Amino acid sequence: MFECRWWSKETIAIVTGANKGIGFALVKRLAELGLTVILTARDVERGQRAVESLSEKGLPVNFFQLDVSDPSSIEAFVSWFKSNFAALDILVNNAGVSFNDIYKNTVEHAETVIRTNFYGAKLLTESLLPLFRRSPSKSRILNISSRLGTLSKVRNPNIKSILEDEELSEEQIERFVGLFLQSVKNGTWKSQGWPEIWTDYAVSKLALNAYTMVLAKRYEGEGISVNSYCPGFTQTSMTQGQGSHTADEAADVGARLLLLHPQQLPTAKFYIGLDPFVKSNL
Ligand code: NDP
Repeated sequence: MFECRWWSKETIAIVTGANKGIGFALVKRLAELGLTVILTARDVERGQRAVESLSEKGLPVNFFQLDVSDPSSIEAFVSWFKSNFAALDILVNNAGVSFNDIYKNTVEHAETVIRTNFYGAKLLTESLLPLFRRSPSKSRILNISSRLGTLSKVRNPNIKSILEDEELSEEQIERFVGLFLQSVKNGTWKSQGWPEIWTDYAVSKLALNAYTMVLAKRYEGEGISVNSYCPGFTQTSMTQGQGSHTADEAADVGARLLLLHPQQLPTAKFYIGLDPFVKSNL
């Protein structure tokens, strides 16, 4: 799949939440494949340690601090990027949090989860959109999502119908998220038909998937492809090391999807799992 290399050292990729896990593995893979990669992390020390470990492997990458849940951090990052790079080709919104153990479901940190996994990705994307090179079919955004964020997980038809609207807008996605946060505040979330597993996380990924679709539609024919990818159950901190495969394996597939030849590059697709051909429309 990597036979037809359309990219070069001039191809610039940003990966968020990349000091460990799938984000780190993706940075490593993209650097191995010869792109210029910007590793970002919310914690400077953890980020720099990750950069050093790649440098020791002969894989130099750039670094800048970026906390996607903090608008001033996004602003500082975008300003640094603008003054150091001519344009952007690839954005991977990977940074994410969950405060659940594998078999537990708490919404205690729902606001942080939504702010990081949905609003963080959205605000960063909107801030970087004007900087994309937009050479034909080469600019791409990949949102690292989860199958927990598929519409079938929402059991309440009234809530589900908000995201099913064919003319779905960003306002409707925010309304969906707002309804959830309100139900957490009211203590009614359990009885209202929200997803049953990792509820706050699932809602954040539902919103991210919906945003992927809205953005893909906005840029259809405009030189930016927008897709999302669920890496499957992967052995990282988020799963307390459990999973059916490693972060490197998940990142290898992620890199294949990211680097699809321009002629094969879709938009508005949700890729699920390690077989890159398993994909569904959101
Ligand atoms: P990890 O917990 O290993 O990595 C998450 C990364 O996100 C860390 O680098 C973490 O930084 C960073 N992060 C968290 N909050 C922020 C923030 N506010 N700003 C910037 N970075 C932040 O998890 P994974 O590698 O598993 O997760 C990567 C992505 O994959 C996530 O979006 C997750 O939802 C998704 N995913 C994972 C699955 C799995 O089975 N592992 C399955 C499906 C999807 P720090 O080290 O500072 O905490």
